Amino acid sequence: MPIYEYVCPECNVKFDRLQPAGASQAECPDCGLPSKKALSLFSAFVSSDGGFSEPVAGMGGCGGCAGGACACSATH
Ligand SMILES: [Zn+2]
Repeated sequence: MPIYEYVCPECNVKFDRLQPAGASQAECPDCGLPSKKALSLFSAFVSSDGGFSEPVAGMGGCGGCAGGACACSATH
């Protein structure tokens, strides 16, 4: 199971919790309030490595165009 980082909206405290993948909330150890997942460097790296690089490469299509103005994906 991955370890996620959460931030309590009430206490504004960060804590780590071992959670099943996909769990978006964990209870704050102090007040018990459901806390949302914090964006940690680790999880950002994992998600960008696993699910982000491929869609971007696919959407880029044409390597000769720079950025959003490229219409190649529509015309090709
Ligand atoms: Zn709390």
